[in-house]
Amino acid sequence: MVRHRIADAAMRSGRDPNEIKLVAVSKTHPPSVLREAMEAGVTIFGENKVQEAENKIIAIGRHAAEWHLIGHLQSNKARKAVQLFDVIHSVDSVELARRLERICEEEGRESLPVLVQVDIAGEATKSGIAEEALSELVDYLNTCKLLQLQGFMVLPPYYEDPEATRPFFRRLRAIRDEMLSGGELSMGMSHDFEVAIEEGATIVRVGTAIFGEREYGSR
Ligand SMILES: *Cc1c(COP(=O)(O)O)cnc(C)c1O
Repeated sequence: MVRHRIADAAMRSGRDPNEIKLVAVSKTHPPSVLREAMEAGVTIFGENKVQEAENKIIAIGRHAAEWHLIGHLQSNKARKAVQLFDVIHSVDSVELARRLERICEEEGRESLPVLVQVDIAGEATKSGIAEEALSELVDYLNTCKLLQLQGFMVLPPYYEDPEATRPFFRRLRAIRDEMLSGGELSMGMSHDFEVAIEEGATIVRVGTAIFGEREYGSR
């Protein structure tokens, strides 16, 4: 279902559906649900909490699927994140990037693909780096030996109308074009991934539309 909608949105905007990765956001769901999804063809899972993800990744297998961290990463969880995840979407400060680079070295991890989460709305409560501070972080990441800057991620404020997020997606794309031509754009969730694909998303992070509603209070 979601795959068909991704393919339709891609075709509508003259894009190849194969260039769009689907991250199935499995937060709050138990390993049995993830296993079912794998049988239905899911290969990439997104989790937003390191602690919660750890149990699942152990249950399913570190290398049985691709694991993406999509939630804010606290510095005291950075080592666990380096051990558990294939890709981190939520790098949002030079300090965190430095720490991750050092830990990769200590852990013998040869490369860690990362995305920079950008706070386009300027909402103080959300994670993500402000646009004014972005170039310093990108410059730092470009000097890293182990962290590999692969692109950018945005988590816009929630609007009922999916069209309302279009300007955020457009802005992220402009940032990508300026700073990392050809880089990934991680944008679009259950209610707006089609708009995100029209605006150039290369990775969509979809939970509810795949797994159904999460329990109250677990977002
Ligand atoms: C929960 C979450 C998603 C998925 O949200 P849905 O609306 O369930 O598709 C995507 N990205 C991030 C960062 C999330 O925390």
